[in-house]
Amino acid sequence: MEKNIKPELNMEKIVSLARRRGFIFPSSEIYGGLSSCWDYGPLGVEMKRNVKDAWWQAMVHNRDDIVGLDTSIIMHPRVWEASGHVSGFSDPLVDCMNCKQRFRADLLEGDRCPNCGGDLTQPRQFNLMFKTFMGPVEDGASIAYLRPETAQGIFVNFNNVLNTTRKKLPFGIAQIGKSFRNEITTGNFIFRSREFEQMEIEYFVKPGDDEAQFKYWLDERLNWFLSLGIRKENLRLRQHRKDELAHYAKDCYDIEYFFPMGWSELEGIANRADFDMKQHSLYSGNELSYFDEETKKHIVPYVIEPSGGVDRTVLALLCDAYAEEPDRDEIRAVLHLHPSIAPFKVAILPLSRKEPVVNTARAVYSSLRRCFAASYDDAQSIGRRYRRQDEIGTPYCVTIDFDTLDDQAVTIRDRDSMRQLRVPVEQLTNALQAKLNGEPFETLPPGGKHWLGF
Ligand code: ATP
Repeated sequence: MEKNIKPELNMEKIVSLARRRGFIFPSSEIYGGLSSCWDYGPLGVEMKRNVKDAWWQAMVHNRDDIVGLDTSIIMHPRVWEASGHVSGFSDPLVDCMNCKQRFRADLLEGDRCPNCGGDLTQPRQFNLMFKTFMGPVEDGASIAYLRPETAQGIFVNFNNVLNTTRKKLPFGIAQIGKSFRNEITTGNFIFRSREFEQMEIEYFVKPGDDEAQFKYWLDERLNWFLSLGIRKENLRLRQHRKDELAHYAKDCYDIEYFFPMGWSELEGIANRADFDMKQHSLYSGNELSYFDEETKKHIVPYVIEPSGGVDRTVLALLCDAYAEEPDRDEIRAVLHLHPSIAPFKVAILPLSRKEPVVNTARAVYSSLRRCFAASYDDAQSIGRRYRRQDEIGTPYCVTIDFDTLDDQAVTIRDRDSMRQLRVPVEQLTNALQAKLNGEPFETLPPGGKHWLGF
């Protein structure tokens, strides 16, 4: 990892906002927390689900050539022998002989302990898979592993999917799910944890088409991150050096994001060639292959694998969206999240807690929530409520006031420009929908007008 630290944003701000507003909490916090495990709170779970939905929409529903799958976390132990994880899924571990801390040798700069400067042991290989036992007897025959990646569940189902969907090459299988790695060094918030979620596609192609498909997927995946509003200058592709390539990979690129701790991997895109298909055919005794109608021959497809992390995507989105900006005499913290990712699309804020205003506000809320993830907030001053919604990234606030009772209109306030429009209640849903779909905020719906506030 390049030590090219981003000066203007420190991770503490993101961690503090995430905790204060209910995005992400330390796991088992009342017991003192559990190292590198995290819980998603009421807003975090919405945001994370939006990330997964956006991926599923773009990678599965909007395409004819990819189908989904949801496989079990615990698989036959032979799977992990075939895949190479039992023998090779390890990181080089070194211990500090003075302070006893442990580090990943390949992430260290220099040959002394970064914590105390002490001497380090020689590196030894440490397998990252969590081992457990199936059934009541803890013996060698019952060993099982928590999957360290979702990919293998896809490979072992290749024949099932092919037989039930009759897909023709090239086609892909997509899966989102939890993975587990007993990481040596964790940290940087949700960037590297021991339990995390992956979004993976195994895209099967004819041998010979793999290099062109690989290039296609690099663009496709980079564009997906851009479509979520991540700034282009904070994303880059980095090709793996030959000595860095995993044992199965013919070629590999990382999509990296410029996190506060520097450029780091967001997603890996690998050309896995026919390694996995051949290994599972060999170890299971079941041939994983594709019958090519044109040549009337069985072929073993090559595989292109875009493998991304849900949690790292959430972290990149939070970092990219976070800003501190002048607001009158103060500074506001705001998350400029893409509307598709924001936990709430709209907040309904009545300017009074008195009956007629509240009744109208409740009616507006119940009609909007049928169309958008909406929240209702009547606590504290309107300034503080705007501040709260800005900080959680709600793109639009709708205020209902005493005038609403006369003119049947409400005020929409834009998170990013803080400008306001007055629009008839009957136009509200359509106006919000249009703006969430990208219409400029200044565009007025029928009967609407620009509004400077009170
Ligand atoms: P790193 O070198 O950063 O540990 P990796 O190269 O081992 O990552 P892959 O095996 O390529 O990661 O996994 C694919 C994706 O899964 C990564 O790009 C990342 O988004 C996610 N991921 C992997 N390990 C973790 C982890 N410990 N915590 C959170 N996300 C992870």
